[in-house]
Amino acid sequence: MQILVVEDEAGISELICLNLRHAGWEPVSVSSAEAAQRQVREALPALALVDWMLPGMSGPSLVRHWRTEERTRPLPVLMLTARAEEADLVAGLEAGADDYLTKPFSTRELVARIRALLRRAAPQSLQEGVQLGPLRLDPGQRQLFWTAAGNTRELRIGPSEFRLLHFFMTHPGRVYSRNQLLDHVWGDHVFIEERTVDVHVKRLRGVLSIVQADAALETVRGAGYRMHVPGMPAASVP
Ligand code: CA
Repeated sequence: MQILVVEDEAGISELICLNLRHAGWEPVSVSSAEAAQRQVREALPALALVDWMLPGMSGPSLVRHWRTEERTRPLPVLMLTARAEEADLVAGLEAGADDYLTKPFSTRELVARIRALLRRAAPQSLQEGVQLGPLRLDPGQRQLFWTAAGNTRELRIGPSEFRLLHFFMTHPGRVYSRNQLLDHVWGDHVFIEERTVDVHVKRLRGVLSIVQADAALETVRGAGYRMHVPGMPAASVP
C-alpha cells in the first residue's frame, strides 16, 4: 500500500520512509507540492504525509487543492509541521488535513497516527479481520469463513474475489460503480475494463452461493453494486 511522503528535507524524508517500510507500507517520496501533484496524477496513494513548509506551493495549499478535486478529495492527509502555534494547526486542519503531527515527532507516533487514519478512511487496507453477519474474512491468512448454526466452514475464494469481498465487507450498504471498484480494489489507473468487475462479481457470487448468500451482493441498476449483511434485509445494514 502506497503512502506519499511530501517532504523537502532529505534527512527527515529518509527517516520517515524507512519507518513506513518497516511498518509494511510502500513509501513514495517527493520533495515538492508540484512533484506530489504529478505523482498523484499517476497513482492515488492510500494516504499522504505532507510537510507544511515546502519550496514553491505550501503544504496547506496543496491539501486545499486536493480537496477541490473529486478524485483526491477522500485522500487521507497527515500534515507534518514545525509550527506548534495553535492558529497554524487550525489553519492546517481548515485546509483539509485530517490530522497533524508537530516536529520533532516520534516515529512510533507517526506510525500510530497513520494506522488510525487508514482505519477510518480505508479499513480494507489494514490486515485486520472483518466480520459481516455470518461471514468472516481474515486478510492476514487470506481465508474466508461462514458460520451458521454453530458450524464454521471455510469458503475457497480466488485472490481478486477476496480483495473485492474485503472491500465490500468493509463498506456495506453503499453503492459503488464499476469504476470506483476498479479504483479501490485494483488500484486506479490500472488499465482494466469495467466489465472485468462484472466477471469477478459473478465469481464472488458463485462463492457466496455455496452458502446461499449470493443475494447479499446486490446489482443496483445503472449504478453498480452494493453489499448487504448476508441473510438480513437491506435495512439492517450498519
Ligand atoms: Ca519543509
